[in-house]
Amino acid sequence: MPGESHVRAMQDQQQHYEAATPHGVLRAVFGHDAFRGPQEDIVDCLMHGGDALVLMPTGGGKSICYQVPALCRPGVAVVVSPLIALMEDQVQQLRAAGVRAAALTSALTPPEAAEVRRDLDSGALDLLYVSPERLGGGSLLEQLSRLQIALFAIDEAHCVSQWGHDFRPEYRRLAVLAEQFPGVPRVALTATADEVTRRDIRVQLGLDSAAEFIASFDRPNIRYRVRLKENSRRQLLDFLRDYPGASGIVYALSRKRVDETAAYLQEQGIKALPYHAGLGAEMRDKHHRRFINEDGLVMVATVAFGMGIDKPDVRFVAHIDMPKNMEGYYQETGRAGRDGLPSEAFMIYGLQDVAQLRRFMEGSTAPEEVKRVEQRKLEALLGYCETARCRRQVLLEYFGEPAKPCGNCDTCLEPVETVDGTHEARLALSAAYRVEQRFGTGHVIDVLTGKTTEKVQRHGHDKLAVFGKGEATGERRWQSVIRQLVSMGYLAVDLENHGVLRLGPREHVQPVLRNEETVTLRKDPERTRGGRKTTKGPAAKPAEALNEAENAVFQALREKRTELARDQNVPPYVIFTDATLVEMVRHRPANRTAFAKLAGVGTSKLERYADVFLGVLKRVG
Ligand code: ADP
Ligand code: ZN
Repeated sequence: MPGESHVRAMQDQQQHYEAATPHGVLRAVFGHDAFRGPQEDIVDCLMHGGDALVLMPTGGGKSICYQVPALCRPGVAVVVSPLIALMEDQVQQLRAAGVRAAALTSALTPPEAAEVRRDLDSGALDLLYVSPERLGGGSLLEQLSRLQIALFAIDEAHCVSQWGHDFRPEYRRLAVLAEQFPGVPRVALTATADEVTRRDIRVQLGLDSAAEFIASFDRPNIRYRVRLKENSRRQLLDFLRDYPGASGIVYALSRKRVDETAAYLQEQGIKALPYHAGLGAEMRDKHHRRFINEDGLVMVATVAFGMGIDKPDVRFVAHIDMPKNMEGYYQETGRAGRDGLPSEAFMIYGLQDVAQLRRFMEGSTAPEEVKRVEQRKLEALLGYCETARCRRQVLLEYFGEPAKPCGNCDTCLEPVETVDGTHEARLALSAAYRVEQRFGTGHVIDVLTGKTTEKVQRHGHDKLAVFGKGEATGERRWQSVIRQLVSMGYLAVDLENHGVLRLGPREHVQPVLRNEETVTLRKDPERTRGGRKTTKGPAAKPAEALNEAENAVFQALREKRTELARDQNVPPYVIFTDATLVEMVRHRPANRTAFAKLAGVGTSKLERYADVFLGVLKRVG
């Protein structure tokens, strides 16, 4: 029977893996020369039968941590994953690398599911992906208990915690794995870092003695850039001009803004699609698939477009409205550049965003305590926007990781000039105080600049000592000063009260008012019309790192990849990632031996694609 010999050949391959070292498998199957960050220690821990808790940023390389030991240890590895899209994506990539992987999902027909179960029994699988529902209930556990299990990997493990944003009660049932499979190593992986969630994962999954591995959360290939919101459409369009033909995500706050922005981009000739919860499951799924399968699509989305985007070649993430907090911002921007190639995170923001976000928060039914925490988190994000320091430093320090100035963010590349703003700060604080903390930014600025509006006269504010004291500073600068003072906590915008400006905590504000403390403010950059070129520093996108001739080769390789992907009905990156194409451009392999050495080329891909791509290189080179 042909099927049988196929299985036997597969079993030989399995033998081959088991004899292999983790390094051997890393090279032969995945085409990588070295482990990255803590990958090697994690693999080691699992190889020796230990449990592990892994914290790694998106794109950090979590899958290798369990896929390599899955192939080196005898038996099948079981991977729990919360989303069908994630599972299918992983299985596709593994199969392309010649690994015997399958997913048992609700998308399978009963006969298909039965076939996977048979393969499981006959030892024809190295990795099995399942949802927590499947694993927690029914007959699968019973079947697994009769088999040799290489390990259990619990992906997106923060889903077990109700403190997290993706709580999935079914994850709790995974606690049974510890009892039913003593001695089988278990690894929980997540990109959500906070202490509470981590503790919850340990408790809920019975991982009390698991070794903890925390990778750096830095994503050095992502360039961070933040601009004040002036005209978001024009600013977005200017930004996108730098990324022709690239895949990217544009995040906006509301469904309406998503729809409008996507329509606007389409009018401008940009391939853009909307994505938000109001679109209906079918349309969302269709847009998601197009984003994964096509090159160069811009997805305009609310945060509903999130988990399950495993696309490695997302070149940019642009926020045209401020996200809710640093955690959200970091997760969303982290979807750029998983392939390690230069990518960009761009944001435009304004105080009006802060006001709108606060309105959302105030409108929620959450307890006061939660609202206060959210408020502080929003202020931290505003502080990040207004900072004159390296953005990466501010980000990483927020997550408790010390860092040096990075040289790859806007404040590093075009250092922000700072000035002693103590005098301006004192004026603004006293103006807010003198109008009895009962008026918003606009009115306070009118008082500072000496405008005799009807409102000013009605309240007698033209009689105040500060009236007109800040005329020379100008309205625009005052907006910036107030924004910065809010970001530093000297002022607070009170939303319950129509955006009234209040003074911050007494102990914080008094020293400034008494002239005992100085306040450093950033000078405002010149208003940019269109132009915004950052010329120095490392490349912001892969195409920038290649010269013109190299870029032509890169495009030719890309076309071939698209063609192959279409034929096989898989996303282009399943054939090769952009990173591997760039390797081809750089090293110009002339034969199979040289091709085999490229990062991202394992044995299986060498067999299938070396000749095709060598042919392209010969033709265009
Ligand atoms: P995560 O699940 O943590 O978001 P992935 O496992 O999808 O990250 O890996 C992200 C990218 O990094 C993938 O394109 C993968 O091929 C690449 N990668 C992972 N480990 C290595 C390594 N040791 N060397 C080179 N590339 C790696
Ligand atoms: Zn920096």
